[in-house]
Amino acid sequence: MRRGVNWSARAVAVLAGALLVGGFGLTGRALSQPQKEGAQLPPLIGDLLRGRTVVIDPGHGGYDPGARGMRSIEAKINLEVALKLRTWFQMAGARVLMTWSRPGEIPANRKYRVRQRMDWINAQGADLLIDIHCNSGASSYRGPQTFYWDGAASYHLASDVQDELRYFTSTRRDVKRIDQYVLRYAKMPAVNVEVGFITNSQEEHRLMTPAYQEDLTWYIFIGTERWLLKGRWPANLLESPPPTDLLVRD
Ligand SMILES: [Zn+2]
Repeated sequence: MRRGVNWSARAVAVLAGALLVGGFGLTGRALSQPQKEGAQLPPLIGDLLRGRTVVIDPGHGGYDPGARGMRSIEAKINLEVALKLRTWFQMAGARVLMTWSRPGEIPANRKYRVRQRMDWINAQGADLLIDIHCNSGASSYRGPQTFYWDGAASYHLASDVQDELRYFTSTRRDVKRIDQYVLRYAKMPAVNVEVGFITNSQEEHRLMTPAYQEDLTWYIFIGTERWLLKGRWPANLLESPPPTDLLVRD
């Protein structure tokens, strides 16, 4: 069972984030005006991401299609998911760079060169890297899983993203340390989100569905926001409930 999201739920999450960031500027008027479909997110959420650079790397592309499902190829889904993830980060004020962003951008006759891609990623001075892939395995395997290689920052980023994905999909999968080229050589906090199993026909169908992609990327985005929040605030403050004087506004 996946949990759907709607715009009012998103607005609540954004406002809760804004409260945690400092509570400044948040008025009763803002709370009483839920966000309309397609509306901009409140600017406060951007406080965490404004001025930061996020690299999103849709895995594979060009010559390399990645894993194959019954009706889809991994590279295509990776790109569709990555583009939706980019939108959330852009709405929050981040500078988002992608290793590729159009279907034909990596020519079909050009081999996927992970080392070149990695050199480019490392030259961007990015604050974090999110790789997007689809998993493959036995047809019964399902659920997204977030991987990291080294460093507390990557581990915590992976954990926060996976916590959100566990909530969203009810998967029991947990973060996993894995030696992948991109994760090993990234010079910034880096995670690889395997968004689901392309080899599970039900999950493949979901992964091909734009509305599901949108929800999925929302939770990846929110997990990243949680990680950024923790980086800003002392742990003991995050573990205690929000101060009531910030929550009550007359
Ligand atoms: Zn892949």
